[in-house]
Amino acid sequence: MKNFEQIIVANWKMQLSIEEAKKLARTIKNLATEKKISAKKKIVLCPDFLSLPEVAKMLKDSDLSLGAQDGFYEDIGAFTSQVSIRELKASGCEYIILGHSERRALGETNLTINLKVKAALKHGLIPIICVGETFTERQEGNKGTIIMHQVFEALQGVEVENHHQIIIAYEPVWVIGSGQAISGEEASQTAAMIRQSYVDVMEGRHTDSLGVIYGGSVDPSNINHFTKMANIRGALVGGASLKATTFVELIQNS
Ligand code: PEP
Repeated sequence: MKNFEQIIVANWKMQLSIEEAKKLARTIKNLATEKKISAKKKIVLCPDFLSLPEVAKMLKDSDLSLGAQDGFYEDIGAFTSQVSIRELKASGCEYIILGHSERRALGETNLTINLKVKAALKHGLIPIICVGETFTERQEGNKGTIIMHQVFEALQGVEVENHHQIIIAYEPVWVIGSGQAISGEEASQTAAMIRQSYVDVMEGRHTDSLGVIYGGSVDPSNINHFTKMANIRGALVGGASLKATTFVELIQNS
């Protein structure tokens, strides 16, 4: 991961109206300035599609970045309801969350995630690829296989160049929104496995392009359990990103 030491990504899901998203973005921006949050900590806000233009205006001339929660891999065409990654870039997005478990639950596959990663890199967006096991997969002893498979399929055939960045978020599905995060040690071991899978699929090339982050019930009191681990470069945050003071406290503690 280049240009910054840590990345904290807010996933607002479908939780806010356009007005609420605007207000939250404004307050986070002001608080981050007031608390002198270093630009070395990259903050990314991911509102829903409709709020993107308004939040983009709010973040203009700040160190905060805009991200989308998904996007479609074709640039243009008869794809009712889809939003192209090309247009997300034109709307000011720098990042894009791909393969979130809530998208996978609605039918997103490793194959479509792979096409989206390729489109994201083609249009200059940084993909944040979510991987992680369900509780059943874990109980059946398949956590490692599932995650390696997700990393491999998301990145197969992806042409990474030196200037590209790729973020992989380890998000144990059963932990998301539960209020009960896993241990920093387990997250760190899984991050190491994810890195190894990345190295294998890239055949040892572009290792500097990858940053692994953790997501799943992160809050201001536990964020440093993860960020103190050398191989975890930040967090993907759902619930705790919806209140400006909580989110900025989380960033300060990271
Ligand atoms: C998420 O949805 O990606 C997430 C990490 O949510 P939460 O922080 O609420 O567990």
